[in-house]
Amino acid sequence: KEGLTKTRESIRENISRITQGRTDIDEEFLEELENILIAADVGVETTLSIVDRITEKAEKETYHSEDELNGMLMRVMEEMLLDTSESHPVDFDAALPAKPYVILIVGVNGVGKTTSIAKLAHNYNKAGKRVIIAAADTFRAAAVQQLQIWADRAGVPMVSQGQNADPASVVFDAVSSAAAKGADVVLVDTAGRLHNKAHLMEELAKIMRVAKKKVPDAPHEVLLVLDGTTGQNAVSQAKEFTKCVNVTGLIVTKLDGTAKGGIVLSISRELGLPVKYIGVGEKIDDLQIFDRGKFVGALLG
Ligand code: GDP
Repeated sequence: KEGLTKTRESIRENISRITQGRTDIDEEFLEELENILIAADVGVETTLSIVDRITEKAEKETYHSEDELNGMLMRVMEEMLLDTSESHPVDFDAALPAKPYVILIVGVNGVGKTTSIAKLAHNYNKAGKRVIIAAADTFRAAAVQQLQIWADRAGVPMVSQGQNADPASVVFDAVSSAAAKGADVVLVDTAGRLHNKAHLMEELAKIMRVAKKKVPDAPHEVLLVLDGTTGQNAVSQAKEFTKCVNVTGLIVTKLDGTAKGGIVLSISRELGLPVKYIGVGEKIDDLQIFDRGKFVGALLG
């Protein structure tokens, strides 16, 4: 896929550099391969299992050409990268288990939260679902304005109140309006102030409590947005968030701007959470439902 060019180039080109003119595998080769995968943020654990598997194979097999060797490497990497119990990706067209289906979006400022909400709104809207955005990050006036611009772009209504309004009150409004109008999806933007954890936790807890008054099993999903260009920092950030709120899935953004897109392949393993969507650009169409098979195919193919 287009958006992943940098990561693909980093993995493919570096691997062909080290396999060039080679038919056998030695220590030095394995070390270089390890470095390439780690540099692409594939993750230490996954990288080591790939290298182990390749070592095992190379002890038993003989390769007659560079192409044969390359083919074996790609097959092993594909096998190992696909080896997960991840749930199957769900399309925007699919029927939702609740109406309205309430999705809380969390993440620190700057990771691409606003853009991701707009992209989700656009996709659900395109799939014929009626969407309402709740502007519950009421702390930053600019955030609400920015979100309004994106809501307009996506062609979906947004519920907001003034600056410093109670976020829970905005959510109550949005969920009530969704229930009254028969909307399908409510996307809730939330504040991203992780440095004030106690406050953030209280705020999120109150949002959830209030949403439940209208929709008892809300929120149905809590999606954490992470900036894919920050590599392992995204993992530690995520760990902080999961202490505050029961995250159900991840959106990893900005994979178009980085050679470290391998993070997507290790992050779910490290956090025990599925990557549901990936951001591959700044436009409203630049969101993909994360499909591990396709992703690995795009990286190695
Ligand atoms: P927020 O502060 O978390 O709401 O972040 P924004 O949604 O405002 O995004 C911050 C910056 O990241 C903006 O310049 C976005 O255009 C950019 N951005 C968001 N998602 C992506 C993505 O998938 N790819 C790229 N290249 N940029 C992105």
